[in-house]
Amino acid sequence: MHANLSAALADSFQRYAERIALQTPTGERFTYAQVAQQVARYKAVLNGAGAIKGDRVAVQVEKSPRSLFLYLACLREGVVYVPLNTAYQPAELGYFLQDAEPALIIVSVEAEASTRALVTSLNSKARVLTLSADGGSFGADSTAPGEIKAADIEPDDLAVIIYTSGTTGRSKGAMLTHRNLLSNALVLIEAWAISADDAIVHALPIFHVHGLFVANHCALLSGAKLLWHAGFDTSAVMDDLQHATVMMGVPTFYTRLLAQSTFTKARCKNIRLFISGSAPLLLETFEQFRARIGQTILERYGMSEAGMIASNPLRGERRGGTVGFPLAGVALRVADASEHAIADGESGAIQIRGDNVFAGYWRNPEKTREEFTDDGWFRTGDIGVFDAEGYLSIVGRAKDLIITGGYNVYPKEIELVLDAIPGVHESAVVGVPHPDFGEAVTAVIVMDGTRSHVEEAAVIAHLKTCLANYKVPKRVYFVTELPRNAMGKVQKNVVREQVSQR
Ligand code: AMP
Repeated sequence: MHANLSAALADSFQRYAERIALQTPTGERFTYAQVAQQVARYKAVLNGAGAIKGDRVAVQVEKSPRSLFLYLACLREGVVYVPLNTAYQPAELGYFLQDAEPALIIVSVEAEASTRALVTSLNSKARVLTLSADGGSFGADSTAPGEIKAADIEPDDLAVIIYTSGTTGRSKGAMLTHRNLLSNALVLIEAWAISADDAIVHALPIFHVHGLFVANHCALLSGAKLLWHAGFDTSAVMDDLQHATVMMGVPTFYTRLLAQSTFTKARCKNIRLFISGSAPLLLETFEQFRARIGQTILERYGMSEAGMIASNPLRGERRGGTVGFPLAGVALRVADASEHAIADGESGAIQIRGDNVFAGYWRNPEKTREEFTDDGWFRTGDIGVFDAEGYLSIVGRAKDLIITGGYNVYPKEIELVLDAIPGVHESAVVGVPHPDFGEAVTAVIVMDGTRSHVEEAAVIAHLKTCLANYKVPKRVYFVTELPRNAMGKVQKNVVREQVSQR
């Protein structure tokens, strides 16, 4: 077997040539052979635009079959794919363009003018191409397929840079190699027994590890069919369940399905496996699902920097509230402050090693050094505990992260924007439990007394102009002071309790 993801995918396209690789609710279908042909076309467009091995290609486009072809073409070409959340506003985009210094930026037709203006204002050398869900403008349709021959790619060459938000509000680019991605995919295919007989519901975004790596690679390396949804539309997904054998989702998908009285056992009769991850699955959802559908959701744990880390078992007990066991090839320790593994039953920092662990942060050796221990373990930033049978639970996040609807939000980034509003003295942003989103971003603000009043709605409207929608607080409360500890640190846990009571 190859240690190069691109070559492994090319083999798969040949081996399963006649099988359906991808099918959408609107009736689009592509066999593996057709996917290979499209990938060759997209690769030719990348070539034509002058992208060469090692160049970064930043992509902010709507999810469609075309966006998948583009990703696969980047892998094949040996350029480094840099997916950007479609919710990012131009003000946020600027940072990624300056940091990643892409040779190409591919955006939707609608975003072309603003992106060109941004590129000019930043003095960037990046070329702008457009790709819409219907394939518009990219030019692949009119390009001869050309050779699908891969660039010379080594296992340790970079495949993707995924930006993760930093606690200081600055994103870091996690560098993932072909080896990282392929090794993790092969482990998951084995762990979950994914095969050419599977049809996998794919309603996840593809700018994130879950949809981009886990679902795509598991399916495409095993000849399975992707039931490709542009987003999570409850009724469209419900209609597709009868064709599916596997569903991969974030907890929000499962709470939304359970909210439908027509989500029944009969509808799921062909499904052998429901997988959840990216955020904690509430025990309540886990149990409600089992009672209604008669199947047990398999919860797993992972992150951008390391792909998948732990999973409940395919065979054997899946334990609610836990993320199961470390995956094959992943060494995992729960460590104390002096970096020593501690006893089961005690919580500590989750640290990992393995082929899945990323190659470091893009142009940020200092941050990379900080996130690894002296003996080479990656600090995930999560707090975990093993039970006596070896099941791992995530009990907290060292990094104060909020996860809302499967998206990560770092409070600091929003606090900085709030604090810049005239009249605002200081602010604190926390996540509070929410039945649909898992956590809802919530802000509390202390005014400085120079202005008599600011409306909650006005604050939210302002934030919407400069932040992706999912980061914008659902509620904003005004308080006279923030709770602080003896060291002067804002006590986020107290803030969380206070707003939960409101
Ligand atoms: P991301 O890099 O966006 O995938 O976010 C990774 C973070 O999501 C992890 O470090 C965890 O804090 C959290 N996470 C992922 N899966 C789970 C899970 N099953 N339970 C609890 N937290 C999770």
